[in-house]
Amino acid sequence: MQSFSGIAASPGIAMGRLRIIDRRRTVISEYPIPSDAVSHEIGRLTQAIEDTRIELESLKSRLAESSGEDHLFFIETHLMILADERLVTETTETIRTGMINAEGALRRTLHRYREAFARIDDPYLRERISDVETVIERILRSMSGEKVEPFPQHEDQIIIAAHDLSPADMLQINRSHVLAIITEIGGRTSHTAILARALELPAVMGVDGITDLLLDGVAVIVDGLSGSVFVEPDQEIFQSSLRRKQHYEYVEYELLKTVSLPAVTRDGHVMQLRGNVEIPEEGASVLGHGGSGVGLYRTEMLFMNRAVMPDEEEQLAIYRAMQKAIAPHPLTIRTLDAGGDKLLDGMELAGEANPAMGVRAIRLSLLMPDEFKKQLRAILRVSADGPVRIMFPMISGLEEVRTAKALLEEVKHELAVSGTRFDSAVQVGVMIEIPAAVTLADLLAREVDFFSVGTNDLIQYTLAIDRTNEQLSHLYQPLHPAVLRSLRRIVQAAHGAGIPACLCGEMAGDPLYLPILLGLGFDELSMGAGSILRVKQMLRRCSLERASRIAEGCFDFSTAAEVEMYLKSQITLDVTESID
Ligand code: PEP
Ligand code: MG
Repeated sequence: MQSFSGIAASPGIAMGRLRIIDRRRTVISEYPIPSDAVSHEIGRLTQAIEDTRIELESLKSRLAESSGEDHLFFIETHLMILADERLVTETTETIRTGMINAEGALRRTLHRYREAFARIDDPYLRERISDVETVIERILRSMSGEKVEPFPQHEDQIIIAAHDLSPADMLQINRSHVLAIITEIGGRTSHTAILARALELPAVMGVDGITDLLLDGVAVIVDGLSGSVFVEPDQEIFQSSLRRKQHYEYVEYELLKTVSLPAVTRDGHVMQLRGNVEIPEEGASVLGHGGSGVGLYRTEMLFMNRAVMPDEEEQLAIYRAMQKAIAPHPLTIRTLDAGGDKLLDGMELAGEANPAMGVRAIRLSLLMPDEFKKQLRAILRVSADGPVRIMFPMISGLEEVRTAKALLEEVKHELAVSGTRFDSAVQVGVMIEIPAAVTLADLLAREVDFFSVGTNDLIQYTLAIDRTNEQLSHLYQPLHPAVLRSLRRIVQAAHGAGIPACLCGEMAGDPLYLPILLGLGFDELSMGAGSILRVKQMLRRCSLERASRIAEGCFDFSTAAEVEMYLKSQITLDVTESID
């Protein structure tokens, strides 16, 4: 037996036969060319790019026919990378000035992309280099005449191991034959990992050397919960993996029963459970986990890692993809929440002494009203397609809401004059994540259609604990009495004004907190898609009446530790029990 450990990228345990797919990088050699060969090499490059475009377009239409258009975002991304002018101009320039072959020049371009991506702090965006690598690999294969090995379609019970799998590869996987995947590179936030989770395919990534084994057909166990891979497992490992698999599948099976069940308490109280998303492909996962729409769409992802802000049309296309992915459910689009730990390229704010308290979120948007209006225009235009809500982040007082709303009115007026369709009654909400907004909650509630509490920031600012500082993580306490009092006050203010109280911080995704949030009166919780079923399970075991008593009981205690002890004594996470 051989065991490997890697990154647990998608949960689940699978046992099957190893099938190694050759997705290794094409071997490239760089060599000098005479000056009269320059135009020939440039021609080879442009032809290969064109061939790759045709190949991707045809893959796109094949996939659209077989699996609908929902998952095609990745191919669109690859087509966008392929259409990037810089890819051609930089590589052509290198052929011309360096007098080298097209493959060598393309590799140099890739090297520059890698250097630029390596400087990105955000791990999600840093890993987007894998999309660029996939595209360049396709161009290189096209130049070498090598074909990409097709995926096995009829072999049963296989576990695919590859150096790397692109998102387009993932889309071609036949789910009824393939049980799991293992790759040598890639991380948890890569598109491939996102798709593995969306396809509910156990995955372990970063398993160095797995494809060198050349053991096609051997028995293998993939444990996507722990990140372990066992090749030719012994009896003991096989038995223990089997028990883990059965336990995991039992819990999932129990949870999946709630997918189509309404998010309602035992005494008939309905609560909206929605998903938090960053990119359109997460929409399908939200619905697949029984979410009733998106409660937080973090649009800043689209603005990062680029010198120029996305224009209205680009924003509209992405917001449309997201809206389509979760239709007919509502989509809550949060306006740009950049700044703090989410810096945009070229922001001169990087040197701020206290970025968490600096020019960020709505403050930044109000400093650049033209860009802000562009975003509002794109959001309003997508509101013509289905239910959309607009949400302003980091509101600290009334002036900000009023100014933001005035700009929204200006945009509505401009759209109306130009005859552009939008939902004139689009709902507008604010995030409550600064203590001042809690204090003013009653006044703010009169100005908007809903509140959404960002507990990640609210806890940070209420307790003065940097949410990114792991040394203070023990002091970052959602059950701190000051936080609970704030939450109570927010719900009371919202309901006093007749508007719903939503909550979209990480606190929403922990089933332990559900009885308190339900008991306090929250109408909607929004969380990562993977948490929805567990939270729904807890909700369906609660009664509103009992949860209200639990929530009230929390206020008898004066420290977070005491509240937690009390809370745990009141509930049990055992799936067979009910709280009534
Ligand atoms: C929050 O602060 O709780 C929130 C949901 O927003 P973000 O995590 O994006 O700051
Ligand atoms: Mg926040």
